[in-house]
Amino acid sequence: MSLTSVAQAVYLVAAVLFILSLAGLSRQETARRGNLSGMAGMGLALAATVALALDGSEREVGVTAALIAAVLLVGLTVGTWQARRVEMTQMPELIAILHSFVGLAAVLVGFNSYLTEPADPVHLVEVFLGVLIGAVTFTGSVVAYLKLSARIASAPLMLPRRNTLNLVALVVSAGLGGWFVAAPSIVPLLLMTVVALALGWHLVASIGGGDMPVVVSMLNSYSGWAAAAAGFMLSNDLLIVTGALVGSSGAILSYIMCRAMNRSFVSVILGGFGAEEGTVAAVDRDYGEHREMSAQDVADLLRDAKRVVITPGYGMAVAKAQYPVAELVAKLRARGVEVRFGVHPVAGRLPGHMNVLLAEAKVPYDIVLEMDEINDDFGDTDVVLVIGANDTVNPAALDDPGSPIAGMPVLEVWHAKQVVVFKRSMATGYAGVQNPLFFRDNTAMLFGDAKEQTEKIVHAV
Ligand code: NDP
Repeated sequence: MSLTSVAQAVYLVAAVLFILSLAGLSRQETARRGNLSGMAGMGLALAATVALALDGSEREVGVTAALIAAVLLVGLTVGTWQARRVEMTQMPELIAILHSFVGLAAVLVGFNSYLTEPADPVHLVEVFLGVLIGAVTFTGSVVAYLKLSARIASAPLMLPRRNTLNLVALVVSAGLGGWFVAAPSIVPLLLMTVVALALGWHLVASIGGGDMPVVVSMLNSYSGWAAAAAGFMLSNDLLIVTGALVGSSGAILSYIMCRAMNRSFVSVILGGFGAEEGTVAAVDRDYGEHREMSAQDVADLLRDAKRVVITPGYGMAVAKAQYPVAELVAKLRARGVEVRFGVHPVAGRLPGHMNVLLAEAKVPYDIVLEMDEINDDFGDTDVVLVIGANDTVNPAALDDPGSPIAGMPVLEVWHAKQVVVFKRSMATGYAGVQNPLFFRDNTAMLFGDAKEQTEKIVHAV
């Protein structure tokens, strides 16, 4: 049997492992196994690819091996260092920057493939599309990284006629594509790359803060298609399969996130959604007075409660409050209080962010409910603890059509008898809008770090 057919067989096994990985990752109970399958698949894929590269090398085998070893060493060192160092709250920005690498790789593979391989029309189309998707993914992900890490403002860039600009970029790219296939040269390819880089930048820059979750999953999908395109250029079946898996699962995730946020999928794909022209954040309005509570008051409240719901948000992740929260839940349940969690689909900074944190702190899965499952129950709830959440519990999304988050379904916590909001100040959340919930009669603020305050409550209960 030739090495190529062995490698093809290994690729097939790796592809099956990747599918098993996705299946495993779809549920918390099996997520660990899913990750392991993915790692095993990637290990096999790397081994087969390296073996093929050494076999087909036109250089001295030793030189090729040394080059591969050097690249692997750099990748492993940087990857391990970053993965160990990154905080859970920085995961979204890490993922965004990793997507940009996939985009950049597709661009480089495209140029290399154009310069080194015969220019038949099918190959030219592959190169053109690969570079186009790669370049859009690259700059789009860089902007997403800058926004998520707060290195640039998360407010949408509002260029005049932004949709027309995007359309013009696409039409120009299509024209350059025609030129490239009809009279192959590096000029149209380079021109298109510049246009696509600008397009990717503009698409993500014009999206408002609150809509970033959709952007992250959308770029995830783009990076998959960029990898699939690179697979076509390199005639690597596994890369095509893997890219298509990532591309389509990212698209499904984007669709789910859009539905959760009540945004149209088509307008997301076209970019430039988010705040409509003319909407203003109602920051300067007078909302009245807010009321404060101490940790001791909250403990008293909880002791007398029968039904409690906790709605965690990004602040719980920042404070790493999930551990004392889990402890509090265990204590209350031991006293016969019914405690459940209500998790908003875009709470935190990553799809599934809160579920991961709660699982990490060993909160039982069956008391962690999704927004749709719990929203009708707030009327029968005695106390809601809003731990570091803000945008996801903002009533303005439902009753203020001018709000940048208007139309997004939220956890309707205000129907409960008493709401306690854990945060450090009256500052706004990620979308940058004030929250009228804080000023309602049945809401009290518990100021301070969510972890410290929860620990105090645990002691007092
Ligand atoms: P928000 O970002 O709206 O608010 C978090 C709140 O936590 C802040 O108001 C902050 O208030 C508080 N906080 C921060 N640190 C602490 C701390 N140490 N202790 C106590 N409180 C703290 O959170 P949500 O989860 O409600 O909403 C998520 C937002 O992020 C949405 O707008 C969503 O669209 C967006 N987003 C979501 C992504 C996803 O995939 N899930 C990805 C990208 C964006 P203070 O400073 O006063 O303490």
